[in-house]
Amino acid sequence: MEIEIIRYPSEEDWSRCLFLARITQGSEKFAIPSESWRRKLIASEHSPARTLPFTIALWGVPYFASVHLVRHKFGVEHYVKSQRSNPDRAAVRQDAPVNHVMDLNLQTLINMARKRLCFKADPATRKTMEDVKTAVCACDPIYRDYLVPDCVYRGGCHEFTSCGYYERWLEKIAEKRTDG
Ligand SMILES: [Zn+2]
Repeated sequence: MEIEIIRYPSEEDWSRCLFLARITQGSEKFAIPSESWRRKLIASEHSPARTLPFTIALWGVPYFASVHLVRHKFGVEHYVKSQRSNPDRAAVRQDAPVNHVMDLNLQTLINMARKRLCFKADPATRKTMEDVKTAVCACDPIYRDYLVPDCVYRGGCHEFTSCGYYERWLEKIAEKRTDG
C-alpha cells in the first residue's frame, strides 16, 4: 500500500482559518497565523478546525481496512474504486487491494485517529492509520501531537476491554522517573 497526501492545509488555508476564527470575535483581518496559534486552534477543536482540508490517497489498501475507514462519515467523503465491473465479484478476496481516496477536514482526521490508532482496532486498519499519520506529519509535523488514540486523549482506554496501551505508556513514564 502507498499513501499519498494530495492536499494538506496550505498557508492560505491557515490564514483563511484565522480569518474565520477572528470573524467570531468581531475582527476581519487576514494574516498568517503563528505556530502557537495553530497549535491552540487544533487543541481547542473549535469550528475553524473543520475548514482545514486534506485529500489523502490510499493506493492498494486492503479491502476490509477500506470498509473500516468508510464507517467514518462526518466531515469526510470517500472515493473507493468500485468492484462492480468484476464479473465474478464473489471471488474477490476480503484483503484484495483497493484504491481509496478520502477528502476530509482536520477535525475528522483527528476523530479517525482516535478510533483507528487504538490497539483494539483491527491491526491492518491500525497500521493504515499509523501510515496516514506518518505521511501527514512528513508534510507538516504540527499534527503529530494531535493525531493520537482515544486512550491517550481520554487518559485511559474506553473500549469494552482496555487495549493496554495507556497503562504501558504510564509504566514507561514511571520507569523513566525511577531511572532519574
Ligand atoms: Zn485503546
